[in-house]
Formats: sequence, C-alpha cells, structure tokens
Amino acid sequence: MRHLFYITGSIIPSVALARLQKAAKRYVVCPFYHAVSDKPLPHISPLYRHRTEQEFRADLDWLMEHYEPIRWSDIDRYEKEERPAFCLTFDDGLKEFYTIVAPILEEKKIPCVCFLNSTFIDNRDLMFRYKDALTRQHIDWRRFLEEEQPYMTYAQIRELQQRGFEFGSHSINHPHFYTLPLNEQLNEAVGCEKELEKHIHLPHRLFSFPFGQEHLDSVSIKVHQGTHELVFGTENMRPGGANLVNRIAMDGTAFSARAVITGEYLREIAHQQLHD
Ligand SMILES: [Zn+2]
Repeated sequence: MRHLFYITGSIIPSVALARLQKAAKRYVVCPFYHAVSDKPLPHISPLYRHRTEQEFRADLDWLMEHYEPIRWSDIDRYEKEERPAFCLTFDDGLKEFYTIVAPILEEKKIPCVCFLNSTFIDNRDLMFRYKDALTRQHIDWRRFLEEEQPYMTYAQIRELQQRGFEFGSHSINHPHFYTLPLNEQLNEAVGCEKELEKHIHLPHRLFSFPFGQEHLDSVSIKVHQGTHELVFGTENMRPGGANLVNRIAMDGTAFSARAVITGEYLREIAHQQLHD
C-alpha cells in the first residue's frame, strides 16, 4: 500500500509540493535513516535496504532544494510559520554515521541528531536482529562484532559532538517496547540516558522509540513524552502533538526522497480525509 503512494509520489512534479504541504498542513518533514554504505552490510542488508552514498547525497540534494535543514528545536516554529523545512535524524549509532554520513552532512551544513543504544556503544554487544541476520548466514556474530566494529565508539561520539552533532537515547538495547511493561520501557529509555551521561555531556533529553511507537498504547506514549524534552516516533507525517514528532523511514525502500516524501504527503492527505 505504502509503495503505491511512493509510485504515485515519484511521478508528481516537485512544483506540486507547495500545494501538498498546504493540503496536508505539514511543512516540516523528518526523514530518518540508519546506515549509508556502498557495500552490502552483512548485519543490515538481510533485514532492510540501506542507501548507497550516491543515493543518500541525491536524497539530501532534493531535500535541500525544497526544504530548509533545521535543528529539532526549530520544528514547532517552522511548522507554525508554514515554512518548509526538514529535520534529519539517524537511529542505532552505527559506525557509518561517523565514517560516511557525518562528513557529508558537514559538507552540506545539515544538522542531525543520532540516537544511540547504550549497550552497543564501543561494540560491547550487537542488536538481537543483527545477531539473527548474521547467524542465518552462518556468520559468527561475536567475531563479526570484534572484527567489523559495527557501532561507534564513545571517542567518536565525543568528537562528533564537538563537530556539532547531537545525540539522544534509543533505549538501552533496542527491545520491542510493546513486549515490556511500562516500568521496563522507562528503564530502557531513561536508563540509556543515565548510561550515556557517564560518558558524554547530554544537554537535552531526546528519545526515539526503538522500532517506533505504533504498537504502543497511548498511555505509555504519553509517559515517554513526559520524561523527555522531545520524543521521535515513526508514524510518518501524522501530527505527533505536544513534544512528539513523527518521522519518515527512508531505509527499506529503493524509492528516492522525492518519491517517499511526496508519497507520504498523499498518504497523509488520504488519512486526514478518511479519519480526521
Ligand atoms: Zn533502531
């Protein structure tokens, strides 16, 4: 279904964007990614498609042509002023954020928040889905972790902070929150921040739900909003309300940013007409 919107999005000329923004009443878009790499990544490629460097650059060029890159703290203001802008984030703290993504964003002067899982920093452990993906290919994940060092280190994170990038919590070890009671969800979300604070300065309490919030009840979501300055979800262009901002997943598809963002406008407009 989602892909039908993207196919339609890919044939709508970008000059129609202003009308789509007005119809959807959404001026700030929040695309998010995990990794960018020209090589297949054995822990990620079996799970979802990631962008190549050229594809990522093309996405950013299109975004820069039609939207102003802004920091998370400017989202509300731009939305109120009806100024087209994009706020970029990355999840999972993978090493490609340091080696490939950050230099490109600096070159293009695009601010970004990267959400981290405290357990994986410094390559002390690997997310369970990556372990499964590697094991299915008969790759020893412990050896992979040691040899490939798929995550960033605290030294790299500190350096990126000095270069202007921001960081937030993405839970301690990336569980499915809907499988956990609320107190354990909170321990994951806030515990990650406490651990990060032992190693880096964390001036703002930003959080992104691991695997998104779509299976969570509204009470749990509100509690997470209450314990953070800004919470990032994954329901595309749906209005989040208060301090919840929804983001658009750019990974997992070969569609360009133009097709995905334009398609999400169509999806949001359809949703508003059917439900709101
Ligand atoms: Zn994640």
